[in-house]
Amino acid sequence: MADALPPLREVINKYELRAKKSFGQNFLLDLNLTGRIARVAGDLSNAVVYEVGPGPGGLTRALLTEGAKRVVAVEMDRRCLPALADISNAFDGRLSVIEGDAMTIDEPAALAAAPGEDIHIASNLPYNVGTMLLIRWLTQETWPPFYKSLTLMFQREVAERIVAAPGSKAYGRLSVLAQWRGKAKIAFNVPAAAFTPPPKVTSAIIHYVPGAPLDPTVRLADLELVVERAFNQRRKMLRASLKGLPVPPEPLLEAAGIDPTARAETLSVADFVRLTKIYAEMKANSLRGA
Ligand code: SAM
Repeated sequence: MADALPPLREVINKYELRAKKSFGQNFLLDLNLTGRIARVAGDLSNAVVYEVGPGPGGLTRALLTEGAKRVVAVEMDRRCLPALADISNAFDGRLSVIEGDAMTIDEPAALAAAPGEDIHIASNLPYNVGTMLLIRWLTQETWPPFYKSLTLMFQREVAERIVAAPGSKAYGRLSVLAQWRGKAKIAFNVPAAAFTPPPKVTSAIIHYVPGAPLDPTVRLADLELVVERAFNQRRKMLRASLKGLPVPPEPLLEAAGIDPTARAETLSVADFVRLTKIYAEMKANSLRGA
């Protein structure tokens, strides 16, 4: 029975899980808070939930208590495995744990979702790899991707970049990648004091749901290139920052109806998608020698 599990502080003492910086460990020990995070993910009764970095298992317990059909967790720190085995026993084997690195794992194979089962990702991410994992999940070649939603903890500053609107300082590559084929929102903030040990900054929970691309004919690789160039030198005018593309920037911007003296941060996500579409057409024409 889940009620039989001891408080997380006891688990940490029993298995000597002193937080290690090298693993990006900031644990959540308040089961009310982890329950609130799990509920952001929505109805999990038909879900295989993928959790990166369960640590001592605070969020893991919450996901199972909130009714996740199964949780598959990947954890790099083997010291946590006995504590996670206790959780798996208490929840009748609905938790399986893979010792490994989330950066290299083959996710769909590891999750082995049965037909009809949805995959949701929920995690209090290790900050040292969090943004890289998010970019990996946002840049899946197959769309809709293998997951139905992401419920993730980030530093507040990163969360703001994900949901940022044009014209703001936070608006950039991450905002466009998150918003051109999905909806991202900040569910709530989490103060530093909620973690053991507390990090230096405030955190926030992001909820992301993949959706239809603004333009399904636009290729991810083209969009990534255009956006990367545009924001790489974000203070420059676009006619200068897009110089590295294999098509001349001024005609490209004019064809897309964008002022060549504008800066990347003033373009909407739809502007970037349109710019990319015209970029791909011009590139194809120039290869054809048109
Ligand atoms: N989920 C726990 C909680 O909320 O208390 C722990 C969160 S802690 C911020 C991040 C966890 O991710 C740690 O347990 C750490 O060992 C694990 N971790 C760090 N890098 C990892 C990686 N590349 N792959 C899998 N787990 C990783």
